[in-house]
Amino acid sequence: MFTLAQYPLPYTTDALAPYISQETIETHYGKHVATYIDNLNKLIQDTPYETVSLTQIIQDTAGRPDQQKIFNNAAQVYNHDFFFRGMCPKCTAEIPQEIIDSFGSAENFKQQFKSAATSLFGSGYTWLVRDGETLKIINTGNADTPIAHDMTPILNLDVWEHAYYLDYKNRRADFIDSFLDNLVNWEFVAQNLAQSQQ
Ligand code: MN
Repeated sequence: MFTLAQYPLPYTTDALAPYISQETIETHYGKHVATYIDNLNKLIQDTPYETVSLTQIIQDTAGRPDQQKIFNNAAQVYNHDFFFRGMCPKCTAEIPQEIIDSFGSAENFKQQFKSAATSLFGSGYTWLVRDGETLKIINTGNADTPIAHDMTPILNLDVWEHAYYLDYKNRRADFIDSFLDNLVNWEFVAQNLAQSQQ
């Protein structure tokens, strides 16, 4: 049995305004994420997945058409928890040096991330991942997640329309700029970079 309380927001629902409104957080976290958790609980009831961790469920159901609904809901819980923890209000940490070294400059990294997120067709996520030794920017469609592909997530951006439509309407590029310039929790990113090297 999973609960929303296991995946708490690390800030209040109004803390990311004006970049992401309280209404968006209340809908996105309070309704969408809550629904993925409810659906997951119903789907795993009376199955062996009831006693398995979220990441194990994702890895066990990935690529299996007969388990697609469980995968989708479990991966959405994981992806959203990662997304919400990857932001902070009034963040002060600097972009980690490893990202500057890998992409040439902070500006190059942001441009490549923005380009990927802008070009993602339909619903999905843009990610910074570690794939082996290499830092990469990738897109995943719908609920798909790097942990189903042996890659380690470092940062993600939800570009499903529900993530930005109340605040930005069709202006996804402006949402991406707000995220990269004002919302990324670089301390969280630095921790993920360090852990992914162990
Ligand atoms: Mn979402």
